[in-house]
Amino acid sequence: MKQRRTPTLRMRNKPGFSPTSNAAIGTGVHTLTGKRYASRYPYAALTDIGRKRTINEDSVIAIPPLFAVADGLGGHDAGEVASSIAVEVLREHAPRKADLPALVRAVRAANDAVIQGAETGVGRAGMGCTMTAVMVDKTKAAIAQVGDSRAYMLRDGRLIQLTDDHSVVGAMVRSGHITLEEARNHPQRSVITRALGSDPDVLVDGFEVSLLGNDRILVCSDGLTAMVDDGHIAEILMNNEDAGTVAQNLIEAANNAGGNDNISVIVIDITTDHMQSAEPKTSKRIWLWGAVWAASVLAIFGALFWGTLSYANSRAHLDITPRGTIAIYQGIPGKFLGASLSTLHSDTGVSVTNLTAADQALIQDEIIYQSLEAAQSAVEDMVSHSTVTPESTDF
Ligand code: MN
Repeated sequence: MKQRRTPTLRMRNKPGFSPTSNAAIGTGVHTLTGKRYASRYPYAALTDIGRKRTINEDSVIAIPPLFAVADGLGGHDAGEVASSIAVEVLREHAPRKADLPALVRAVRAANDAVIQGAETGVGRAGMGCTMTAVMVDKTKAAIAQVGDSRAYMLRDGRLIQLTDDHSVVGAMVRSGHITLEEARNHPQRSVITRALGSDPDVLVDGFEVSLLGNDRILVCSDGLTAMVDDGHIAEILMNNEDAGTVAQNLIEAANNAGGNDNISVIVIDITTDHMQSAEPKTSKRIWLWGAVWAASVLAIFGALFWGTLSYANSRAHLDITPRGTIAIYQGIPGKFLGASLSTLHSDTGVSVTNLTAADQALIQDEIIYQSLEAAQSAVEDMVSHSTVTPESTDF
């Protein structure tokens, strides 16, 4: 028989900082209205202690348009304090809209507060937490990321991991040293390389993704992703159920797989009417990389083209005109990217038939001369051992 475990909604009431309010967790529908659009997105945010831990160190916040998961590090009286401070300070500093630079600044403020908390004895030295924060707007989401909690998007039946894991194994996967499957069982899988609470200058990943109707966004802690693989997560997200049921199903799947860690999930459904006035756009990050790539390719081709042209321009060669005389060309024979690499400099009026056979062969060989002057003196040489004096050698 399938046993359904109802995830617990956690309330924190540690002295020294305010507990996360009830409104910050649970399920709801957010409605935005404006002159040109009306948007509505159902969401659900749940956290569960799991099956092995005695305390839940994750903190979750869901106050539309702000959604965030913070996974505490450092054990009892530390991890849960760090994650709790982080989401509270994030909430205080978060912008009202999906303003990416402002969201990143709010995450930095959360980082400062966790560091300060450890220094002033709230929690413990060495405490820290991850932070995956998402702000939803009518056509886009702004995302700020530190650590190994994740944001995913399910679009057209495809699960896309939006965030990079700042972890040892995440780096090993990105560099191709281990596979995703190996990463899930790697002994160092829980070692993270970036977290809030240690470095005042912590590097925060910030980016925007465009949103389309029927996109489903998932934000979660590693208590889900370490227990349930992406294929299974996608399967659960693709079930045509409401955000609350899907969030419960995800937590249930992690617990059924062992529930080794605290599990936090936020599911946000972008409805079609949410996107009334939206134009499909690609992710800004992808766009940015595309632009960088295109600029690099242009620069390389530009340099090659310019280099080739300026080389060609400094050289000269000889050819035979239709009337059988020797012409001096500035440039080299042939074309590059469709452009001729030479222009006619002068028609010497020297008839080819007057030249020695050896000199005629030299012209046929399309020899490239170092300069116009070199080409001119070569023609003069040819004239000097030719049989007939030309009308003029003054070219
Ligand atoms: Mn965790």
